[in-house]
Amino acid sequence: MKVVGLTGGIGSGKTTILKCFKAFDIPVYIADDEAKALMNRSKVIKRKLIQLFGESAYKHDKLNRPYLASKIFNDKSLLSKMNAIVHPKVASHFKRWLKKQDAPYIIKEAAIIFENNLENQYDYIITVIADKDLRIKRVMQRDNASKEKIQSIINNQLSDDEKVKRSDFVIVNNDLETAKAQAKDIHQQLLRLLNC
Ligand code: ATP
Repeated sequence: MKVVGLTGGIGSGKTTILKCFKAFDIPVYIADDEAKALMNRSKVIKRKLIQLFGESAYKHDKLNRPYLASKIFNDKSLLSKMNAIVHPKVASHFKRWLKKQDAPYIIKEAAIIFENNLENQYDYIITVIADKDLRIKRVMQRDNASKEKIQSIINNQLSDDEKVKRSDFVIVNNDLETAKAQAKDIHQQLLRLLNC
């Protein structure tokens, strides 16, 4: 089973493009969503996060995301400690999930691949890009976030140019119809590469 990574900066359209591959009957795995679900579900993760962040890490038995975000914002070392708790669990969940799939390839959406030098976990990597102004506008609308906040997240991420250099395929998501056509073309190229 080949693993294709789908990555891209904030608001580039990863989740939107993922839907195209789903429509081609390709199984998709969203690492961030699974991480969030495991943080609510796994007793071991919960215990360790409470040890790290205190009882306020959970509110009414649900992950208290704003609290965690504020703690991490003030102390970056907490992010790596949290990742060290959560990432291995997501990795083993992904392994179990992968074994159950029956398709020529699967797509794993992960915002961070190049940043942590995780390229070797993927057979191919697709990067979704879009013009910065469009991304800012889209995320402002989606999250009701300020322009400055999104801009600062973009500035902290690896540049699109760098991601493109290190990718096998690129989807330019300035316009949805063009992006969908590119996704279809990549799907067909992958099937050919995999002799399907
Ligand atoms: P994040 O990194 O924040 O998780 P993402 O890369 O997954 O974001 P999406 O959530 O797919 O990006 O897209 C961001 C927003 O832009 C969404 O509200 C989505 O509906 C919208 N969007 C994505 N692509 C397009 C497009 N081509 N045209 C118009 N709106 C779009």
